Amino acid sequence: MYAPPVQRLVTELGKLPGIGSRTAQRLTFHLLRASDEEALALAEAIREVKAKIGLCEVCSNLADGPRCRICEDTRRDAGLICVVEEPGDVIPIERTHEYRGRYHVLGGALSPIDGVDPEDLRITELYARVEAGEVREVVLATNPTTTGEATALHIAEALRERAPQVTVTRLASGLPVGADLEYADEVTLGKAFVGRRAV
Ligand SMILES: [Zn+2]
Repeated sequence: MYAPPVQRLVTELGKLPGIGSRTAQRLTFHLLRASDEEALALAEAIREVKAKIGLCEVCSNLADGPRCRICEDTRRDAGLICVVEEPGDVIPIERTHEYRGRYHVLGGALSPIDGVDPEDLRITELYARVEAGEVREVVLATNPTTTGEATALHIAEALRERAPQVTVTRLASGLPVGADLEYADEVTLGKAFVGRRAV
């Protein structure tokens, strides 16, 4: 239907999460209308982020050097490690301004059905950090989903054996404040229903 270069852009944009084929077409036409400078700034931003951003050698958060800004920050409490699934999970926790410890990004959640086993995540690296000393508490902040809960359980059990002196905690469950129900995952929503009260 489109010239091959146009079709190529529609296809590539359509691979992005949350972008259906209609949105991909709309974005493509927007970029075709935009100036060369504006459109190529997007291409350049993608190229730069792929060239310059890697994973922190300590916590696997995104970093533009060997270590991320949080691991570089000596004011952050090294005795606290918050375990999350993806680098994107660090941002909302940082926004709360409630947490002053460090992070550990697993790179996903355990899901045997999808072939994601403990060795596919950076779990061994977490145990090594905890066993190295210093750590007092590990906060499990994996998602309140089936795989996230399974991951938290797996790590909590392993830490009880490997580092019984370390406190392991889990974020309190509940719907995110201010979010629409449609944005809540099914497990959180399920818990919210079970725990519902008369008002
Ligand atoms: Zn780091």
